[in-house]
Amino acid sequence: MGKLFGTDGVRGITFTELTPELAFKVSAATCTHFGEGSRLLVGRDVRIGGSMLESAVVSGLLFSGCKPVLLGYIPTPGLQYNVAVDDSVDGGIMITASHNPPEYNGLKVIDSDGIEIPRWKEDEIEKIIFEDRIRPRKWDAGVDKVDSKTDALDTYLRGILARIDVQAIRRREYKVIVDAANSVGSLSVPSVVKSLGGKVITLNGHLDPTFPGREPEPTPASLTVASKMVLNEKADMGVGLDGDADRSIFIDDKGRVLWGDRLAIPLAIFLSRKHLELPRRVYTGVSSSFFIEEPLKREGIEVVWMRVGSVDISRRLASEGGLMGFEENGGTMYPLHHPVRDAAMTTALVMEMLATERRSLSELIDSYYPKTYTIKTKIPMPRKRAIKVLEIVKEHYKGNRIVDIDGVKILKNDSWLLVRPSGTEPVLRIMIEAKDESKAIDLLEEVKSLINQAG
Ligand code: MG
Repeated sequence: MGKLFGTDGVRGITFTELTPELAFKVSAATCTHFGEGSRLLVGRDVRIGGSMLESAVVSGLLFSGCKPVLLGYIPTPGLQYNVAVDDSVDGGIMITASHNPPEYNGLKVIDSDGIEIPRWKEDEIEKIIFEDRIRPRKWDAGVDKVDSKTDALDTYLRGILARIDVQAIRRREYKVIVDAANSVGSLSVPSVVKSLGGKVITLNGHLDPTFPGREPEPTPASLTVASKMVLNEKADMGVGLDGDADRSIFIDDKGRVLWGDRLAIPLAIFLSRKHLELPRRVYTGVSSSFFIEEPLKREGIEVVWMRVGSVDISRRLASEGGLMGFEENGGTMYPLHHPVRDAAMTTALVMEMLATERRSLSELIDSYYPKTYTIKTKIPMPRKRAIKVLEIVKEHYKGNRIVDIDGVKILKNDSWLLVRPSGTEPVLRIMIEAKDESKAIDLLEEVKSLINQAG
């Protein structure tokens, strides 16, 4: 049996891999799984093929007897929030390829709680397709009709502002550079900043499916223009979004692009003071830096390490509770609004943090995060050999603290290292971070000699 769902939904190159037929099948099977008569919200980002796929998704849902409700252009977290707060809605399908290159598109299936469906439901939907169990509805089961909802974006934005001390932030009149990646984030984040009294300068703010400004993934490399603009405009901060505006990477007032795990330290501490009632716990994937643990521990906040992947983090945060979930790639989840990655919600929280702490973003980052040296590299090797390497690494460092839920992570006092076979290509990923450079290089050499032992 083939595999349609990847790490986050069904993805493929539009027209050749992700065809209307495939979108039809996934949607009809999703309807079969949710049950005939289910109401599902359908939204899309700016990507080419979005209109074609939207029609195919609507067809698939109608064919199997579901009720599609069109939202049009909306960020993924906007659709997710609407699914969560509207009792008449059973789920949703978001047409997006998130941060992938422009030629891609995709489908994310959203469960009735507004979070992406768990793995076992993806398997179920795949089985319905591969076992040929998609069935048409009966002709006399009611009129097939497509609804639309025009206030979904507004509902989402009002939900964000309801969680924030708007007046306290308005007085500060923050200047914020928003790099909206020419996609649906331009409909949410600039509006939130303005509602909070901020002066917004939007970069790549018009909707353009060719992504003329930069690639849809926010990284230090793709945010160089935004970073310069923060400095030139003497802005308080900048934020770069991905294609469906769930991920957000922040830029401090010194123009430094901050990975999500860096930002999570002051944010988690701020949230622990804002919400004394919440469990003092945060959730993140093993690819986040180990150096986040120390400053959080000092504040009595526990870090729960998890497999890499936002859906698992969202679901665990929702069921066990905590202050937040985060990924180093900029996915930040605030459970009191909705436990999914949300760029607009995160932007509002960062502004509230600055207003409450009365310090600049660079001061907050520097006061918690030590100066470190990072190495990220990958070595091509078959998966079998990579698994053997993991065993050798584990044995070699057995006196240290080891986290082995996804690859092997070795935690020392002044350094950490992670070796992890990639889920998508035959390579072993290596991440090393140390408080001094020579230590990091020594560790890499050590790991390389262990790899040689694996034959
Ligand atoms: Mg995304």
